[in-house]
Amino acid sequence: MLIGIPRETRPGETRVAATPETVKKMAASGKHELVVASGAGTASSIPDDHYVAAGARIGSAAEALGADIVLKVRGPSEAELPQIKKGALVIGLLNPFDKAAVESYAQAGLTGFALEWLPRITRAQTMDVLSSQANIAGYKAVMVAANEYGRFMPMLMTAAGTVKAARVLILGVGVAGLQAIATAKRLGAVIEASDVRPSVKDQVESLGAKWVDVPYANDEERKIAEGVGGYARPMPPEWMARQAEIIHERCKTVDVLITTALIPGRPAPKLIKAETVAAMKPGAVVVDLAVEQGGNVEGSVQDKIVTTANGVKLVGLANLPAYVAADASALYARNVLNFLALSLDAKSGAFAVPRDDEIVKAVLICENGQVVPRG
Ligand code: NAD
Repeated sequence: MLIGIPRETRPGETRVAATPETVKKMAASGKHELVVASGAGTASSIPDDHYVAAGARIGSAAEALGADIVLKVRGPSEAELPQIKKGALVIGLLNPFDKAAVESYAQAGLTGFALEWLPRITRAQTMDVLSSQANIAGYKAVMVAANEYGRFMPMLMTAAGTVKAARVLILGVGVAGLQAIATAKRLGAVIEASDVRPSVKDQVESLGAKWVDVPYANDEERKIAEGVGGYARPMPPEWMARQAEIIHERCKTVDVLITTALIPGRPAPKLIKAETVAAMKPGAVVVDLAVEQGGNVEGSVQDKIVTTANGVKLVGLANLPAYVAADASALYARNVLNFLALSLDAKSGAFAVPRDDEIVKAVLICENGQVVPRG
């Protein structure tokens, strides 16, 4: 088998789907050839010769895209698609919610594996790209906020007087939110956090943050809030209104707000209205991690830092893991390798996709020219 690692071409995408560490493991059996597009690792601080030392050869973009198995970060672009051969296995963040893109992959004859749909079962944890990348996004959100904030994050006692610790509010406490709490804590901030799912309260408190409670009016609301498969569901408008009121009051007092709330396959829930931003303190920083899914915050603009009339900075930088390219690639590449290991025997080099495996079944989005319906 020829395994190809193209250079990602989406604007701002700095990550790469294989590193010398994972290339070495894939090449170990000697049965598979690896071709890395020249410059594929440059934005992740991996020079071509490191891939060569690990057992790959450097080739053109067309060679990497023309392989039997193509390892990608983002789904192939319109320009890349015709260069992928019919029947090739393409593994990556293929955005399975984008029906038109999936249809185009099917028509191009790809066998596409969208890692966004990995089931959240123990066996799939080492492949879980959403977790590995959300963890990085949560960390970087705090770093960006600290950078944009015109004051210290920790409390300081100096000869020139005392500096107060920054007050940070985190909304949406999944993988990204938990890492944001941990990172802000390390910087010495005072943290509050909230989520729709009640099970998160203990995790928030164990990280040393204060839980902001949005009560449920009845059992039905509580049931919806529990979500499915670890993911949230859309909440009824009455609960959202109650949440907006409580969060509005908290926002008046905070210096940094980080929002990470997502519902799979839907636009991000709007948690912060323009009037709440208008009530925030001048110099406050808001980082909207959901900006690519439509944003949690009214007024945040993708890939822009907007300063509002009342002096609040709205940070809408998308794809924060790409700002931590080397580590994001290292973790992503290991996730991909672990997924590939389901089909690839590391010692013998034999390759066979286990069609009945529930992980394989969950992520297969197209095959033989057809879109595979989600089971
Ligand atoms: P996510 O990125 O889908 O969403 C981020 C957070 O936003 C979630 O905590 C969600 O509850 C919250 N949210 C959604 N709507 C909201 C609203 N209206 N108001 C406030 N918050 C809202 O979530 P995620 O980071 O992928 O993680 C979800 C859960 O799955 C976590 O508890 C995580 O620990 C768990 N998880 C389990 C596994 C596994 O078992 N293998 C792997 C990864 C994550």
